[in-house]
Amino acid sequence: ELKPDTPEVRELLAADDGWFREVSPEWRGQAMALKVNRILHVERSKYQDVLVFESDTYGNVLVLDGVVQCTEGDEFSYQEMIAHLPLTSHPNPKKVLVVGGGDGGVIREVLKHHTVEEVVLCDIDEAVLRVAKQYLPHMSLLLSDPRVTVHIGDGYEFLGNHASIYDVIITDCSDPVGPAESLFQKAYFERMRRALKAGGNLVIQAESVWLQAEAIRELRDLMASVFPTVQYGYTTVPTYPSGQIGLMLASTTSGRSLHKPLRPVPDTRYYNADLHEAAFVLPEFCRALLDEG
Ligand code: SAM
Repeated sequence: ELKPDTPEVRELLAADDGWFREVSPEWRGQAMALKVNRILHVERSKYQDVLVFESDTYGNVLVLDGVVQCTEGDEFSYQEMIAHLPLTSHPNPKKVLVVGGGDGGVIREVLKHHTVEEVVLCDIDEAVLRVAKQYLPHMSLLLSDPRVTVHIGDGYEFLGNHASIYDVIITDCSDPVGPAESLFQKAYFERMRRALKAGGNLVIQAESVWLQAEAIRELRDLMASVFPTVQYGYTTVPTYPSGQIGLMLASTTSGRSLHKPLRPVPDTRYYNADLHEAAFVLPEFCRALLDEG
């Protein structure tokens, strides 16, 4: 029997109604909730609370520090979009770095690109890879592919003074509070710029316009101070708060059309070329927020 040794499991059991709730002061007065069939794994890793449960309707769910990271039922929307937007808009991506992404979902998508020869994954927490291998097999299946090198460590530290190595860098990290804090700082974007080859692309997950509009504008301005091209798109993920999550893309080249796919991607369930372009078409209130129009 599992011992309830993390705050979110204690809360879950205390509520005693069989629902997991993602409650956060960041989105006051609303919460995302999933009905729990059974708890599969509870752990306090070196960096975060790790919880895996089987949900009633979305398959297995990975939760870090009380925040839903992915569910088997809807993960493909996020993984496909965060991988294929920067990769298909790059003319010839061969070497890719994934920072975070320890569940393996982004790696699975990156390896659908025939141009890609090598992928490096740098996640800070070995516990995420371990539980993903056990409970999220459809996401983690290609972590042991020969084209993949896994490094356990902080993404900011890992980049160090690397210069001109990667064609694409995908930052699939958790929210900026906790271990991912270093990944939303200007110094991290500067390290990424240095680590990218000429004409490199990058993406970082970037919150929901319904909940953190101001943070998105700040992130866009920060990235625009480092990269000549920055474009904001989004995808839909029903189990993320508000059902929408942004993707901030950038390129070291000015004038790169990040919203234009240059090649098709095989075997997708969410992504297609029309959706790629549509992901960057913003509603009026977002255009006003980002001063686009
Ligand atoms: N798709 C999810 C989302 O948007 O909520 C995130 C996926 S989850 C796999 C995020 C991963 O980022 C976790 O495995 C976590 O360990 C990792 N991570 C957090 N901070 C990190 C850091 N500083 N360096 C590398 N990986 C980090």
